[in-house]
Amino acid sequence: MARDTLHGLRSSPRHALAKPVRPIDADDAERVAAVMTRFCEADPDPKAGFDDTDPFRLLVTVLLSAQSTGPTVARIAEALFSTVRDPAGMLALGEARILEIIRPVGLGPSKARNIVKLSAALISEHGGAVPRSSVAMRRLPGIGRKSAEVTANFAFHEPVIAVDTHVFRVSNRIPLASGATVDAVADGLARLVPERFKDGAHVWLFRHGRDTCTARKPACPRCPVADLCLWPGKEL
Ligand code: SF4
Repeated sequence: MARDTLHGLRSSPRHALAKPVRPIDADDAERVAAVMTRFCEADPDPKAGFDDTDPFRLLVTVLLSAQSTGPTVARIAEALFSTVRDPAGMLALGEARILEIIRPVGLGPSKARNIVKLSAALISEHGGAVPRSSVAMRRLPGIGRKSAEVTANFAFHEPVIAVDTHVFRVSNRIPLASGATVDAVADGLARLVPERFKDGAHVWLFRHGRDTCTARKPACPRCPVADLCLWPGKEL
């Protein structure tokens, strides 16, 4: 299996939808639960394939992942955290040096600025620790909904389903929650996915989109939820 990496989300994800979005209605609740049951049976204890034990490192890594590829982000995060341990260490490193290290991930100047602001806010407002809830994280500089929900889910097991480019695509195709925007899909997943599946849902859907229901050529003949998928473009 490919190594997990944090994955950015392009600003206009509509391109992933080769067919029109199908609205979800109340009758779909059973089908959504059946899909999640299938993923859960195949992988009952999904684990992120990277270090999720340090919430600060995870939050900064997610911030770095915006519009960047996973392997580059993993390499740059490793370099950045080879000397830094906490927000105070990040402030001591300073914006100029941070920028030097992170430049290969793209959008370096704004990301470096946000990492400094984020570190300062964690120290002044949260005693140097990352808050446990995604709602609180979303108030931090440079942290949007996806970043907050990935971190809260992986680091603290908050039952929220972060929507990245893979989750967005498969949610619309199957569909589990349909929508033309990330927020619409995230709100739909929050409403339709049963609570007991929410902790693992991001990892299941991310891996399904990365390994099976890929953007260009979904592997429908070997898809574990093909019988539950309503996508008009599926090929069996
Ligand atoms: S059947 Fe094909 S389109 Fe549907 S979820 Fe599976 S891989 Fe994706």
